[in-house]
Amino acid sequence: MKKQDISFDTKIIHSGEPDPRIEGAANVPIFQSSTFEYSGQKSYDDLKYIRLNNTPNHIVLHEKLAILEGAERALVTSSGMSAITTSLLTFLKSGDHLLAHKTLYGGTADYVKHDLTEYGIEFDFIDAMDPSEWNAKLKSNTKVIYVETITNPLIEVAPLDEVVAFAKKHGLISMIDNTFASPALFCPVQLGFDISLHSATKFLNGHTDIVAGAIIGNEPHMSNINSKLNHLGGCLDPNACFLLHRGMKTLSLRIKRQCSNAMKIAIFLNDHEMVSHVNYPGLESSPSYQRAKELLCGFGGMLSFIVKGGIEEADKVMSKLKIPMCTASMGGVESLVTRPVQTSHSLLSDEELLESGIDKSLIRLAVGIESATDLINDLDQALS
Ligand SMILES: *Cc1c(COP(=O)(O)O)cnc(C)c1O
Repeated sequence: MKKQDISFDTKIIHSGEPDPRIEGAANVPIFQSSTFEYSGQKSYDDLKYIRLNNTPNHIVLHEKLAILEGAERALVTSSGMSAITTSLLTFLKSGDHLLAHKTLYGGTADYVKHDLTEYGIEFDFIDAMDPSEWNAKLKSNTKVIYVETITNPLIEVAPLDEVVAFAKKHGLISMIDNTFASPALFCPVQLGFDISLHSATKFLNGHTDIVAGAIIGNEPHMSNINSKLNHLGGCLDPNACFLLHRGMKTLSLRIKRQCSNAMKIAIFLNDHEMVSHVNYPGLESSPSYQRAKELLCGFGGMLSFIVKGGIEEADKVMSKLKIPMCTASMGGVESLVTRPVQTSHSLLSDEELLESGIDKSLIRLAVGIESATDLINDLDQALS
């Protein structure tokens, strides 16, 4: 069997697994040992130590993630934020400038606005949906362009191929937060992105029981990031590695169910008289539909919608829902519902919300793997 004949569904189970198996074990046992006997390693980064992210529990994840996204190397980190901040700090130094999409994940946006500026790193926010405005924001010291595969909470897909072309033309490092898509729906490095980032807390792990991150890319970038990560110390504990490894094996099954559930729910909501707007790239009426169809292998498990009657009515609907738990986060087996302005986007000012087109009554639904019929019935009773 040729390598390219192997489908994603098979790779997620078998790729990167130790060969031969460790003591014949079907699973990689947890190597809960901070340090390992010195065996002639030539460099600091090669010494076996948990902070250096190189126990057998790390290595199997690195190999698997690199193969899944078709890149040379991957690294796991202590959280999504650790993956993001470590990568930004690898490529940006004092006096550099960053271009970033304007409605990034809240933690990332805050880090760019408040922490990077303390190090003398400038930024400008851009609308990733509108390439015509990127040139005007470009500076002679711009080093990095940063976007997300599927935006939050409006669930849009930017012209990602144009982001790659723009970065190549101007010699920028292109970084993308691929959390909302996961490798099952999008492989950024294959399209030409330099660095793909994940909160593995979400779809990759899928069981809402650990916090973890991942960085995926080619050399020499990955070696530079690896050194930075070793110094900043954002390592993943072997026990969390084990859980992430176990969780990842069902990624393909989970995300297929989440995509199909989300599609059915989006259609139901779109036809409901109490709902005034639905954001889901799988709806043909969505401005992201064509792009998502061309770039992604599915439309994802995230959607958002507006009910008639404003914030009061939105909160009433959310409190009446029996199946989804009310909280931020996403990508797990269970459905979660939140009003982003109360949680993930609570740091945005009224002006920024207006500028980003985020309605205060917007409800975001992270669709789980429950029965679509049960979820739709639950939404139906909550909306009535
Ligand atoms: C959750 C999330 C993060 C942060 O990840 P943590 O694992 O919580 O540190 C970053 N980006 C996106 C898109 C997320 O959803």
